Amino acid sequence: MSRKRIVCTFGTRPEAIKMAPVVKALRRHTHWETITAVTGQHREMLKQVMALFGLEAEVDLDIMTHAQSLTDITTRCLQGLEPVFADIRPDMVLVHGDTTTTLAASLAAFYQQIPVGHVEAGLRTFDPMQPFPEEMNRVLTDRIATLHFAPTNLNRRHLEREAASGDTIFVTGNTAIDALFEVTDPDYRFASDVLGAAPWGDRPLVVCDVHRRESFGDPIRRVARALRELVERERLHLVLSVHPNPEVSGPLRAALEGVPGVSLVEPVGYGDWANLMARAHFIVTDSGGLQEEAPALGVPVLLTRDKTERPEAVEAGTVLQVGGDGSRLLEAARRLLTDPGEHTRMASARNPYGDGHAARRITEFLQWYFGFRQARPDPFCGLDAEPCWGG
Ligand code: UDP
Repeated sequence: MSRKRIVCTFGTRPEAIKMAPVVKALRRHTHWETITAVTGQHREMLKQVMALFGLEAEVDLDIMTHAQSLTDITTRCLQGLEPVFADIRPDMVLVHGDTTTTLAASLAAFYQQIPVGHVEAGLRTFDPMQPFPEEMNRVLTDRIATLHFAPTNLNRRHLEREAASGDTIFVTGNTAIDALFEVTDPDYRFASDVLGAAPWGDRPLVVCDVHRRESFGDPIRRVARALRELVERERLHLVLSVHPNPEVSGPLRAALEGVPGVSLVEPVGYGDWANLMARAHFIVTDSGGLQEEAPALGVPVLLTRDKTERPEAVEAGTVLQVGGDGSRLLEAARRLLTDPGEHTRMASARNPYGDGHAARRITEFLQWYFGFRQARPDPFCGLDAEPCWGG
């Protein structure tokens, strides 16, 4: 049987982190000719992640411009990918998650009647505006996709309710956990001077990354004020990854720059960041990926969002949703610092997002789909026997 050509398309930091294990797993088999086509929706952060995982892009559209609008990104991706797909003629295009690259690449493949496989399918808040535009991106991508790789059983049920055929859905765990387990190491040496010099261990480390569009304005200001009050009242070391967008860096720097016990760092490389999170007492965030990574590291999360497409860890008890209300954040943070029982309860809750073998499962389903293996793998991956996978 001839090799099948798979194009993995992605464009942002989180997509690169979560697609790297899939690209590497595909490249371990001779069944596939695997081509990475990156759009460059993020530029430097994407390159950093690809270098960390030893990946090179065969195609780089390099679409990123200053102050790019969603329409800019969508049209540049569509126009850039059209000749790429026409030239390569892939047997399948794999996309990841919910970015504008994800939707535009799916549409570009659909226009040439190329099947799409959606990695991290079926996440939903059921509010088209939260997160924006990601919720609509993933709903539309799932409509276009031929194969759906759902991280959890709950994601599978969302897809079934939207009438995706059960035959197209496979529960795999989240590839975020594969990537995380690859880079975390108790003896890790930090590349960043600031992180390398930090006095880990002399007081609790609190790690924060708040940067999403839904947090702009009052929510981020309230979070920043609550963090300042926390660091002034309690003995801790607070490290914040400060996104360069002025809507984020403005309020965070105004409240926290120069405050003793606070380190404000530019977004750091994924290796440093993952190992920093692994050393945290708890994490404060509005990020999607951190809600998956922290439970796998046994680190509690205070989630500064009102809606989440990842309720599994909230139900499991590792993630506490405090929303954009600073007083709830402050109260929960003080409890985690002062009540060891509460900390242990959250830190030891089950991880609902997988066991680090999601990419291998995705390749096994692809082998079956393309006829390289006869037996259809269990679409639930033993899920019923493994309640730790949520749902
Ligand atoms: N991350 C990183 N460096 C940082 C902050 C975050 O490498 O300074 C990683 C984080 O571990 C996660 C991903 O970036 O894997 C999350 O990206 P983002 O929050 O932009 O996207 P989301 O997950 O919210 O879609």
